[in-house]
Amino acid sequence: MTARLRLTVVTVFPDLLGTYGDRGNGMVLARRAAWRGIDVSLVEAVSTDRLPAADIYCIGGGEDGPQVRAAELLGGDDTFAGAVRQGAAVLGVCAGYQLLGRSFPDAGGAPIRGLGLLDVETVKGAGSRAVGELLAEASPTAPMLPGGVRLPPLTGFENHAGTTMLGRGAAPLARVVRGRGNGGAGRSEGAWSGRVVGTYLHGPVLARNPHLADLLLGWALGSEEPLATVDDVEVEAWRAERLAASASRRPAWSSLVR
Ligand code: GLN
Repeated sequence: MTARLRLTVVTVFPDLLGTYGDRGNGMVLARRAAWRGIDVSLVEAVSTDRLPAADIYCIGGGEDGPQVRAAELLGGDDTFAGAVRQGAAVLGVCAGYQLLGRSFPDAGGAPIRGLGLLDVETVKGAGSRAVGELLAEASPTAPMLPGGVRLPPLTGFENHAGTTMLGRGAAPLARVVRGRGNGGAGRSEGAWSGRVVGTYLHGPVLARNPHLADLLLGWALGSEEPLATVDDVEVEAWRAERLAASASRRPAWSSLVR
């Protein structure tokens, strides 16, 4: 049994952080909640709106300038800060992940103060931009799904210049099998602590990894039991195709582009 039957999911500033289709994450959460009979409201809050209180916030990826603006707006937002203090779950993807950390670079590489919700720090990477499919397996430190189940492999695509270093207060979400992820020596991907998760996976990540969506829903619902099963036949077929493509090092989307 789930402890709550009503949820608010907010997609944060899709006008600033909407470049990579991460707005789909909120849609996936809302749909998976509704399939389970939960009364869910999905709010797409553009940067000129007041950010509502929510149970889950989704922050997507974008360009360097809008990322700085989003960090400024979120940093000064009492509703967001209050909801997070009260245990709201937060998913940050790429720019959204970086701005949840202690600092991240602006377009010129100068450090910008992040929200400090994750003990990570991002700098401009030395080499080429990381672009392509990213495959990672849940690290031993990854959060467990409701019911104590391990997260299955994570897939998506990455497109970023930043390298992210984890401090002691954040645990890696996954270990990179193909692609770059956080960059640096440890081959880690993403980070989490409490109910805050950051990742470099676009896709949208929750469409390609519905278990991660259920992790966030489980947190928001306060459920320790597995959530009711939903029909994931199509998404599992797509996952199998993407996992095989990443594992065989085929270039991104080669099966779709002839
Ligand atoms: N501007 C950041 C970087 O390049 C984030 C990019 C993104 O969100 N995809 O590292």
